[in-house]
Amino acid sequence: MSNVDHSEIDKFSALAHRWWDPTSEFKPLHAINPLRLGWIQSITNLQGKRILDVGCGGGILAESLSKAGATVTGIDLSSKALKVAELHQLESGTSVRYLTISAEDLAKEESQSYDVVTCMEMLEHVPDPSSVVQACAKLCKPGGHIFFSTLNRNPKSYLFAIIGAEYILQLLPKGTHQYEKFIKPSELAQFTRATGLEVIELKGMTYNPITQIYRLGSDTDVNYMMATHKPQ
Ligand code: SAH
Repeated sequence: MSNVDHSEIDKFSALAHRWWDPTSEFKPLHAINPLRLGWIQSITNLQGKRILDVGCGGGILAESLSKAGATVTGIDLSSKALKVAELHQLESGTSVRYLTISAEDLAKEESQSYDVVTCMEMLEHVPDPSSVVQACAKLCKPGGHIFFSTLNRNPKSYLFAIIGAEYILQLLPKGTHQYEKFIKPSELAQFTRATGLEVIELKGMTYNPITQIYRLGSDTDVNYMMATHKPQ
């Protein structure tokens, strides 16, 4: 049985042609990308590293990792999003290898192959996030780093990420996120520890709707990222 919700993939496929339009539904991903890239670089050097980006979509993070000097593979189950990612490379000149495959299936073929694995804004769209975390751990070389980001689950995150972002500010299309699929940092930490990873940093990300600026900090109530390390 595969760990995929096809209605989620269809949602992203339907919007895929707008992935690189910075004013589109993907505006928040464009806005947070420099922040998350900088945070990853504050934890590990990317130059010359082999990186896997799981659930890469149109390639916003994957391309930036490649521009930072890494050799990048991006995987996703939306072949439409990957086609857009491939097309965009004609413009950007990057050479990310894009594959339509799940993390679980790639883990059977390329275990312990990557220095760094990133899996951002993806876990809240899959039926069994712990299975993706486990696959990411398997794909990572011992001594490597794995970075996750997702949405916390509490009344404030319901208010901000669904009511605020989808209904009031209309940053995201209605129905982008389902509250039940949000993941508490303690749950994500549990998934990572269950597969032998060590949590090294938890970082919150906040959005100010007045200034329209995203910031990193200690507030993990809504959006957050988690850095983990695979022991040698
Ligand atoms: N990680 C990218 C894109 C996030 S959007 C970024 O942060 O910029 C979420 C992506 O997850 C979409 O491209 C969607 O197609 C993908 N996705 C959802 N379920 C998936 C699954 N089971 N396996 C692989 N990718 C999946």
